[in-house]
Amino acid sequence: MLNALGASDSVIYNLVLQEITRQQAGLVMIPSENYATLDILETLGTPLNNKYSEGYPRKRYYSGNLFIDEIEQLAIDRLKALFGFEHANVQPHSGSGANQAVFTALLEPGDKILSMDLNAGGHITHGNKFNFSGRYYNVFHYGVNRETELIDYDDLAEVAQKEKPKLIISGTTSYPRAIDFAKVTSIAHAAGALHLADISHIAGLIVADLHPSCVSADIVTSTTHKTLRGPRGAVILCKAEFAGKIDKAVFPGLQGGPMENVIAAKAVCFNNAKKPEFQTYQEQLVRNAKILEQVFRNNDVRLVSGGTDNHLLLLDVSSIGITGRQASDALEEVGIFCNKNVIPFETGTALDPSGLRIGTPALTSRGMKEQEMAQIGGWIVQILKAHESHQLKQRVVEQVRALAEHFPIYQEYSNG
Ligand SMILES: *Cc1c(COP(=O)(O)O)cnc(C)c1O
Repeated sequence: MLNALGASDSVIYNLVLQEITRQQAGLVMIPSENYATLDILETLGTPLNNKYSEGYPRKRYYSGNLFIDEIEQLAIDRLKALFGFEHANVQPHSGSGANQAVFTALLEPGDKILSMDLNAGGHITHGNKFNFSGRYYNVFHYGVNRETELIDYDDLAEVAQKEKPKLIISGTTSYPRAIDFAKVTSIAHAAGALHLADISHIAGLIVADLHPSCVSADIVTSTTHKTLRGPRGAVILCKAEFAGKIDKAVFPGLQGGPMENVIAAKAVCFNNAKKPEFQTYQEQLVRNAKILEQVFRNNDVRLVSGGTDNHLLLLDVSSIGITGRQASDALEEVGIFCNKNVIPFETGTALDPSGLRIGTPALTSRGMKEQEMAQIGGWIVQILKAHESHQLKQRVVEQVRALAEHFPIYQEYSNG
């Protein structure tokens, strides 16, 4: 593997090898990260990278797209079937770009959007003031209930009726519970709004029927590299009536040539998602999150909303007297990668918040199960409760390394 790269650029070659080693030697518990399967990585590295194919299948601005058309059409058809939507666009380069395309297709600058409060779990593209979404649109938020920390659908309905937004966005980055998409759709339609469900984090769970369906939404956006375990990128699904507007917004509205190597890898990902192994994988990652929930609960680490229904947990580490940054830095020192995160009604800052976000997709892809989760959860608790102890860190770093060695990520890359 990587022979040509080794010969042409030893600097990048060595950094790539070091990063592969880091991914192998550590425990990745950032809930938005995953290990794409080798068939995905192979597809990304093919000469499909070389082709220009602006436009859509059979409506291209370049010649030579005979096979590319077939590939992109397969990606579209597989995706539509997977989620039960009438139309799909597989070209968005990222989740942020997909959301931008939906806004471009359906809104005018200054229009009202209603989305989840960012401290409660909304994504920056749902109205952060430094993001295009917050700069160009008139943003209102709904949040979670202060006691239960669950989505407050009454609050959502109230703001929707009062503000009459054009678009209501559901979907989050750090919400550990199930989202009632059908309820959001009925609230949106009652207020004369469209419903965009951004399922980036939970797409895999929805495919596996471990999370309520998003099929009621008017438009769905999703990344393909999180629980779907595909290539970096995103997709848009919608009802037929929005097809033309959505396609025009992606190209020529926001993008030029699509990345057909990535689109081919998306097609492979959607095919994999129908296999029994994918179902087993999704069930295991939810079970793994439940084991971590138990460990944290037994050790009096406060969990936002009290637990998890999905692939992630949000720990309120202020409950043990440290900050999210201290927690994530201390865990990084022992090779456990999580991320600091804001929590609902946050009193800290985005760079030093009270929360720690932990997820199971990547470790489950390596084959880790209940036993390993109990072990890792225990190490996390120890580190959080003594985050300055060098002795403890020296011990845990060895245990982490030994465990990681038992679960290789890519045999093919192990000798460089
Ligand atoms: C990850 C994520 C995105 C953004 O995806 P990028 O590919 O990083 O741009 C958008 N929305 C939600 C809910 C996400 O979790």
